[in-house]
Amino acid sequence: MEGVPPITSVHYTKTVIAEIVAIGSELLTPFRQDTNSLYLTQRLNELGVEVMFKNIVGDNRENLAQVARTAIDRSHVVIFMGGLGPTIDDLTREAVADALGLKLKRNPDMVADLYKRFASRRVLMPDNNMRQADVITGAEVIPNANGSAPGQYIEGEQDGSPRYIFLLPGPPHELKAMWNDQCQQLLRDKLPRAFIATRELRVSSLGESTVDARVAPIYTKHTNVQTTILAKAGEVQLHLKCRAKSLPEAQAAVDRLAGELEDELDDAVFSTNGESLEQIVGYYLQMRNSTICVAESCTGGLMAERLTNVSGSSRYFVGGAVVYSNHLKTLLADVPPMMIEEYGAVSRQVAVTLAENFREICNSTIGVGITGIAGPSGGSEDKPVGLVYIAVADDRGTDVVERRFPGDRERIRWWSTQLALDMVRKKLI
Ligand code: AMP
Ligand code: MG
Repeated sequence: MEGVPPITSVHYTKTVIAEIVAIGSELLTPFRQDTNSLYLTQRLNELGVEVMFKNIVGDNRENLAQVARTAIDRSHVVIFMGGLGPTIDDLTREAVADALGLKLKRNPDMVADLYKRFASRRVLMPDNNMRQADVITGAEVIPNANGSAPGQYIEGEQDGSPRYIFLLPGPPHELKAMWNDQCQQLLRDKLPRAFIATRELRVSSLGESTVDARVAPIYTKHTNVQTTILAKAGEVQLHLKCRAKSLPEAQAAVDRLAGELEDELDDAVFSTNGESLEQIVGYYLQMRNSTICVAESCTGGLMAERLTNVSGSSRYFVGGAVVYSNHLKTLLADVPPMMIEEYGAVSRQVAVTLAENFREICNSTIGVGITGIAGPSGGSEDKPVGLVYIAVADDRGTDVVERRFPGDRERIRWWSTQLALDMVRKKLI
């Protein structure tokens, strides 16, 4: 890509592909994550652009120039972010110029702006700040309303296909504002029109491999829709994505597949547009004009936390009690001490009594009781870590299940609330 010739003709072999390069040695430590690329991927997808590669590079000029060369070689849209500050470790301008075989030139207007910025704060500008006025030959400057490091935009051509290169600062609020206010439209104007529609189905009570075995014969027939399966504790997500020349066309393709998947998985599908289980439960509770209360032991309030994460939950959530000790199980949910003595605090009987009695006490439509051993200590041979009883009561009766969840404390607690929410959902549908 020598000398960045102007674009004469725009043609793409297939999709427009993008590559993101996150720059900063802190992003290679255990303490900082590259989150900007998640945001940009979403925005690029909205333009019908696929992100095919992501890189994270430390603050090193040679390494960065090497990654930059590869990126510009293989991707139409390349976004560099980070390393545009004034300090000596900020090397993005230099490294991208190296990769393009271009020079940097200090822009006098930008130098004047920098002086003004500092003067307005009555601070003398250190000399190294001038580096922020160094612009790659032929680049367009993208002003930064929220910080001192401006961005840069370079257009070029390689092997007959266009290149759109962005240099943006790393701080997320600066990057997002610049992308939204300037870059998104700039890129939209350059690209052939293409649209991406997405759908997300969420499935409970089935494992990832079971779900995949059942849905693979269906989604593999829909070659125009990309299907990704993600598993979490007690939940499998099916992400569908289709790229087409119009939004209705893309939408129809993902909707068709979503419908077939729903038919196959039936009521294991709890959400068809990416809603969380607690949102769906809240939705059903409102629809049925019902209320809910929870008496929970091993989940320590997580069930109440999840239910109240949904805005508007005061319309159906009466409240919860964390009945961790035996004393509180008796005091707040009227569990007979004899029952705890006979069957143990972690038992089917106690879970049922928690649900039924607390429902009575709270005068709510549905009562939930959870008791179990989250570990890692406290297990025994007949009551191992991961053993959990969950009961859901309403005026038609009480459902109760016993489960032995695998995993650590956090996972057991999460899984317990997931199943409890799903039992509530099934009672409501
Ligand atoms: P820089 O533009 O390299 O001076 O980046 C300044 C700050 O922005 C860094 O210290 C990070 O806190 C943040 N940052 C840089 N890159 C990213 C990224 N990819 N995702 C999230 N934050 C970032
Ligand atoms: Mg940095």
